Amino acid sequence: MSELIYSRQTCIEGWKQEKLSNARILMIGCGALGNHVGIGLIGLGVGNIFLYDHDIIEDHNLNRQSLFCIEDIGKKKSESLKKRLNERNARIKVYANSDKVTEDNISLLLQNIDLVIDCVDNVETRQLVSRECIIKDIPLVHGGISWDGGQVGVITRKTACLSCIFPQKKEPGAPCRDEIIPGVVYSSQIIAGLMVEQVRKVLNPLPGELGPIGPLLYYYPNEPNHFVYKPILRRLGCECHDLLEELNPEILEQEALEKKSKMDADNNAMQQLGIIDSSKRPSIQEDILEKKTTSKKKSSKAGK
Ligand SMILES: [Zn+2]
Repeated sequence: MSELIYSRQTCIEGWKQEKLSNARILMIGCGALGNHVGIGLIGLGVGNIFLYDHDIIEDHNLNRQSLFCIEDIGKKKSESLKKRLNERNARIKVYANSDKVTEDNISLLLQNIDLVIDCVDNVETRQLVSRECIIKDIPLVHGGISWDGGQVGVITRKTACLSCIFPQKKEPGAPCRDEIIPGVVYSSQIIAGLMVEQVRKVLNPLPGELGPIGPLLYYYPNEPNHFVYKPILRRLGCECHDLLEELNPEILEQEALEKKSKMDADNNAMQQLGIIDSSKRPSIQEDILEKKTTSKKKSSKAGK
């Protein structure tokens, strides 16, 4: 790969271009987000890009799917995006597939992949991809947009999954919202830019920098604070609990410990401020010990 193309980023302290050029990324969805994330992946110099989308380009896509032209209408999105990306750098290996992502092929799609990018437009596929990323322990960069907002975050085994975030069960292929979703180019560019930043941070972290965004950073164009970070906790009863219990229960134990120590800290802080009368309310530890003792008593009674 020409060194000159990337010379303005390889001069950044700690930057390891080979990590990007050796990476294998699967991007699902080649629409508005996919177009702008695709430009970003070429810009970063990601060496192997696998594109998946079963849609055809339509005229109403062209206001925001910036790499597609009038002549592309009626063609497959994945194939057209591959062509446009290779025009920007022919040395990058771009592969296109226009099959639908399903339960039957998802496992194969994620084989030998370092990172997955979610530019999907329906809840069912998001949940499917998120589940497989947990199983294979592959980081997932998630993005979502409409004309009046958006969101971005990196999903791993240590965060809430996309089924925690989108718990609703939708009919297969149903879009994230039931009505037609209006779309403008700039919200795609803003969210796609943040997604590409997360890709770089996961694959090529720099010393001393803030790590990738945990779920989720929200974009609110109609609020004075355009960006608001809201940590999303794992949802009780979500399928990721069962998966992790099978695959890596230590993560759930660690999460429970962290949650307890945070509650203890909050409790202590409130006691110091006099908000809680410590003589009347047991500490979190006592509360848990109390519950354990009660359940032991119950089980010993049941044993008798
Ligand atoms: Zn979950």
